[in-house]
Amino acid sequence: MLKKLTVKDVDLKDKKVLLRVDFNVPIDKETGEVADDTRIKAALPTIKYVLENGGKAILVSHLGRPKGKKDPKYSLKPVAKRLEQLLGRTVSFVDDCIGEGAKKVIEAMKEGEVVLLENVRFYPEEKKNDPEFAEKLASLADIHVNDAFGTAHRAHASNVGVAQYLTSVAGFLMEKEIAMLGKAVANPEHPYVVILGGAKVSDKIGVITNLLKKADRILIGGAMMFTFLKALGKQVGDSLVEEDKLELAKEIMEEASKRGVEFVLPIDTVIAKEIEAGAESKVVRIDDGIPEGWKGLDIGPETIELFKSKLKGAKTVVWNGPMGVFEIDDFAKGTEEIAKALAELEDATTIVGGGDSAAAINKFNLADKVSHVSTGGGASLEMLEGKELPGIASIADADEKKNDG
Ligand code: AMP
Repeated sequence: MLKKLTVKDVDLKDKKVLLRVDFNVPIDKETGEVADDTRIKAALPTIKYVLENGGKAILVSHLGRPKGKKDPKYSLKPVAKRLEQLLGRTVSFVDDCIGEGAKKVIEAMKEGEVVLLENVRFYPEEKKNDPEFAEKLASLADIHVNDAFGTAHRAHASNVGVAQYLTSVAGFLMEKEIAMLGKAVANPEHPYVVILGGAKVSDKIGVITNLLKKADRILIGGAMMFTFLKALGKQVGDSLVEEDKLELAKEIMEEASKRGVEFVLPIDTVIAKEIEAGAESKVVRIDDGIPEGWKGLDIGPETIELFKSKLKGAKTVVWNGPMGVFEIDDFAKGTEEIAKALAELEDATTIVGGGDSAAAINKFNLADKVSHVSTGGGASLEMLEGKELPGIASIADADEKKNDG
């Protein structure tokens, strides 16, 4: 399995460390403050390690989509303030990520000090992975530590480009993501159960196709279940269906049966006419069909029991995508019960893919009851698709250890 150099493999004493973190956090429009600091907290172990080992931490990140130009809405300044509180030490904010200003501040840094550079996406060169821009970023430091798993599926200058000029090693968050997701893809313990939900089959085709080769069982919930159910000739009423994916849905089910993978679809669903809190809702069995004008918005109670029974004894579970419209409490029960079932599994490696399933497990306060909640939505999906991520490939392999590192 993928073995990468980590921050523990290199000498940090007195080194300027360009630490690519994922501080892409929501900012409260009214107060201008950080609305959710989960991602900042997730980077703390690596930041602290760098500081405790005599490094100078130069933090670089993106925030939002500023379209390649300066936009105060996307400034990282509020993040510096929050980070200061979390770290309990001064964080100097530099209002640029390259150039003389940044250089001057960095040259004056002492061991154990922290600088946060302004949003790297204020430059269009970041997303273009422009080599000159990457070189300018790299020239600020002696070593690159990549802890931004959420960006790992993108080849940008601050995560990938800089590795042309500096040795790039993984931070602790990146290391854990690679270990957990990598294991689920490369050599999972069996029985291996995959739970997929969310809005669209089309977003998860790559994941399904890859995991069909590895999993023993695939459980399908969320809106995507209706594309499969319709492909089987069931009446799905006004539920969300991707008409152009019906053929594909059939092929996937045939492939599962050929490979001996158990493909489990819901047997009942919670339906309503509107996707609204307080809307009239009822449970129908899939075999009885969903009437016109009604749509399925959650898995039903029998399905919850069925899925729970299918999770029993699992040694590896990967979950990606909510079972229903979990943002509305009326349709959140399926997602909550599956989250609980995961949390209760003993002796199993339980991995929750990023994005909405991570939001769901946090909503139910169960994040610390599973083995791993991925911090990357797109990146975790691409890992599960079995793809090589540019932001991981650029990190030095463990057998490439450099003498100067
Ligand atoms: P994804 O980003 O593909 O994981 O999809 C997550 C979204 O799917 C969430 O916002 C859910 O509200 C939505 N979703 C889940 N189940 C349903 C459903 N049965 N009908 C409509 N939307 C759904």
